[in-house]
Amino acid sequence: MKDGISRGVYATSTTTKAKLHQSVNSSSSSINSSSNHINSGDMLSSTRLGTFWVRLKHKMFDIPCGQLKNVHWMNMRATPGTAYTPTEVEHIANVITHGIWVGPAVYAGLQLIWRSGSDAQRVAGFIYGTALFLLFAVSTFFHTVFYCNRNRQLKDVLHRCDRAMIYVFIAGSYYPWLTLTPPTHPSILLILKWLVWLLAGLGILYQQVYHEKYKCLETFLYIVMGLGPSIVIMICGHEFTGMDELKIGGLLYILGVCFFKADGKVPCAHAIWHLFVVLAASVHYFAILKHLYS
Ligand SMILES: [Zn+2]
Repeated sequence: MKDGISRGVYATSTTTKAKLHQSVNSSSSSINSSSNHINSGDMLSSTRLGTFWVRLKHKMFDIPCGQLKNVHWMNMRATPGTAYTPTEVEHIANVITHGIWVGPAVYAGLQLIWRSGSDAQRVAGFIYGTALFLLFAVSTFFHTVFYCNRNRQLKDVLHRCDRAMIYVFIAGSYYPWLTLTPPTHPSILLILKWLVWLLAGLGILYQQVYHEKYKCLETFLYIVMGLGPSIVIMICGHEFTGMDELKIGGLLYILGVCFFKADGKVPCAHAIWHLFVVLAASVHYFAILKHLYS
């Protein structure tokens, strides 16, 4: 296949080169016949330049465009009760879009701990940093095993862990805000602090029992757990200092959920969901850094 492409490229470039030589030669003779201003050295270098440009253009645009057309971007949608099978490109995109953030997540968590001035800040930094790291690390591990390994049982266990990490991450994201802000509504914040972990536990339990069975209900639970405490906070009139960033981050998570449910409809939908998670988590992280660890 590669030999075929190479032969094709060689043949094309040879033909192009010949045509270029021909056109240059014919134009050179016509130029020479009318005037003798251009010498043979200039002609040779311009021919070489022309050939180089044709080859470069062919390598940079023609072959990748042809290959892009042949890429299998997505598979059919999964039937009820089964998981979607990503294409090779989707597998790779899934691994990369979370894999590259494992290292930065560790650094981000350490940064919170280094900036801590109290035990409460250290604990909150450790919990948030660990949740951030686990979110990306477990996701990357799961997607890598899914792509490379044929062990269905291991893939299944890791898929459950990957989904469980979403609940852990939501609870971990609330934790610094519910413990490190001025206690204007102490009893409500205290209840919410434990409620989010209770919801995370129930969500994980539900997800283990009904894995891949009622997917829409599972997504609904993520949204309830993600938005529910925020709505309670807004109703009771409590204002976090980083409220704007929290709303922007929340909006990004919700936009990402549209792609979370679009496997088989949108190419690389899951990888796009990953990117929305990265964006939303970044907005929330820098809000924590700015308002709670300044
Ligand atoms: Zn994923």
